[in-house]
Amino acid sequence: MKYPLPKNPFVERLRDILAWIHDLFGRCHFCHWRRAVWSYMPGRDSACDECVPRGCSCTMEPIDGDYDNIKPGSWEHQTDEKGRKIPCCEWWRDDE
Ligand SMILES: [Zn+2]
Ligand SMILES: [Zn+2]
Repeated sequence: MKYPLPKNPFVERLRDILAWIHDLFGRCHFCHWRRAVWSYMPGRDSACDECVPRGCSCTMEPIDGDYDNIKPGSWEHQTDEKGRKIPCCEWWRDDE
């Protein structure tokens, strides 16, 4: 995140403190605002429930339960309790 401020020691220090708070409270790396509840493995990215990238081929399942069925349209995205697509399996939910 870039802060469009002139260079001076106080501002530099403030920026360090902001970065520290950012890590300490685990803010989302996309919006920098909401609390992050998803962590990306491998990596250090974290995301809130709104910003996490959703929908990936690895989280699809066959509609009829037949995993050998490779016909297009016979697989669908898994969804959560709110009907939103489940993120890629490389995103881990932290608060569960
Ligand atoms: Zn976010
Ligand atoms: Zn995936």
